[in-house]
Amino acid sequence: MSNRRFRVYRKPGPGKRDVKKSVDEIVGELKAGSQTSDYRERSLEIHGLICAKCAREFDYKDSNLLTVHHKDGNPNNNPPDGSNWENLCIYCHEDEHSRGMLGDYLSDEE
Ligand SMILES: [Zn+2]
Ligand SMILES: [Zn+2]
Repeated sequence: MSNRRFRVYRKPGPGKRDVKKSVDEIVGELKAGSQTSDYRERSLEIHGLICAKCAREFDYKDSNLLTVHHKDGNPNNNPPDGSNWENLCIYCHEDEHSRGMLGDYLSDEE
């Protein structure tokens, strides 16, 4: 993670400045922005702010690092009792998907 670099291009206009974004901010925007999912809120409520795999606990302020995994691999299967959801931190989630299912599935989910 620490080796990642973002190149920021400054626009020449007066008073314009580019804000350098941290990875965390970008992740936060992804979670909070385009795809706000009801099931995510619900899953966090039902299962708590804790990763089901590594048992790491999260605060609300860094709950953007916690994602909802669909146990059956179908992101459209969202039973209200949360039985198809698992809260995984982004690291465990990636790990979970690297064992068989492929990346474009992950981008569909969220
Ligand atoms: Zn984890
Ligand atoms: Zn998943």
